[in-house]
Amino acid sequence: MNEYKGLMVFAEQTEGRIHPVSYELLGKGTEIAQKLGIEVSSVLLGSNIGDEINELFYYGAQKVYYFDNPALAEFDLLNYKHNLVRLVNEVKPETLLVGATHLGRSLGPRIAAALATGLTADCTALEVGDEGNLIQIRPAFSGNIFAHIRTTTRPQMATVRYKVMQKLPRDESRTGEIVRMDTELVDPLMKIVDKTSAGGVNIAEAEVVVCGGRGIKSAGDFALLEELATALGGTVGCTRPIVDDAWMGKQHQVGFSGNTVKPKLYFAVGVSGSPQHLAGMRDSDVIVAINADPSAPIFKVADYGIVGDLYEVVPKLTAEAQRRS
Ligand SMILES: Cc1cc2nc3c(=O)[nH]c(=O)nc-3n(C[C@H](O)[C@H](O)[C@H](O)COP(=O)(O)OP(=O)(O)OC[C@H]3O[C@@H](n4cnc5c(N)ncnc54)[C@H](O)[C@@H]3O)c2cc1C
Repeated sequence: MNEYKGLMVFAEQTEGRIHPVSYELLGKGTEIAQKLGIEVSSVLLGSNIGDEINELFYYGAQKVYYFDNPALAEFDLLNYKHNLVRLVNEVKPETLLVGATHLGRSLGPRIAAALATGLTADCTALEVGDEGNLIQIRPAFSGNIFAHIRTTTRPQMATVRYKVMQKLPRDESRTGEIVRMDTELVDPLMKIVDKTSAGGVNIAEAEVVVCGGRGIKSAGDFALLEELATALGGTVGCTRPIVDDAWMGKQHQVGFSGNTVKPKLYFAVGVSGSPQHLAGMRDSDVIVAINADPSAPIFKVADYGIVGDLYEVVPKLTAEAQRRS
């Protein structure tokens, strides 16, 4: 086991832009590496990424393993997995961290399975335990407890939620070594292409989220929320029952089993505020709750609460937002 050394962060990119979760993981990775006196590296797969690689150094990577091939420009599950497994077998990092994005959730478990190692999914915290083991912390039992998980195999693998770790301040004076890797492509007949930004929705990045719950009476009524979101330059989200009823796609779901969001402004419209929903939005800067029931738990986390019928309140908010824009 002690042939494994260092901490590696998978750098996720789309159209040549690195996903900010990778910088957050480098921030946490640097903190862990400093405690253990080890190196932080990153691995990037893409094509003609150019200067964007340097961003990984600016945010803490000391070394970047770079696979540059046109076949890797877009996420390609089999080619990404194949080359990452080759790299891990060669470099033997003790820890490999992956963002718990759609892409990371698809890729991470497949790498772990290929390496016959354990993976803790959807971590919200990481600590260094006895003998330098990585303690992987994640909500369990619907968020009622936080499980502390230690991996006995190597590498220790975790996917980590976006927006729960802090990135380091960007520092252009940080530099590092780029190690260019040879890419091996798998049989094209086996190729599976997985598009991650389904429907173009990226709710985790939105600065304004207008989230609808079961207080909305029909799928068509989400148009009311769309109008408010558009007036504020935001995105529509929803609770899980809305996804279960197939009124909206999973990429819109906020909460424990959906997306974590941290917008500047979050509207909870006809949302009761279950623990599973709060797990995905409670860190929003400003929370506005609109609910007909004054005892709804959402009001406990809301900065502004409007007790009323959403069908009356939302159009008024939209009209005011349109008037001011
Ligand atoms: C393992 C697990 C994971 C889960 N993951 C998630 C998750 O990721 N995200 C998630 O959201 N849930 C999740 N859930 C489900 C969660 O427990 C709740 O069931 C869900 O969040 C409730 O959704 P809601 O607030 O839309 O509905 P309800 O709880 O039914 O609330 C509807 C609210 O609308 C209000 N209302 C009704 N009519 C009006 C009106 N005209 N005007 C104003 N207000 C009105 C009501 O007063 C009520 O408070 C999960 C559950 C489990 C067990």
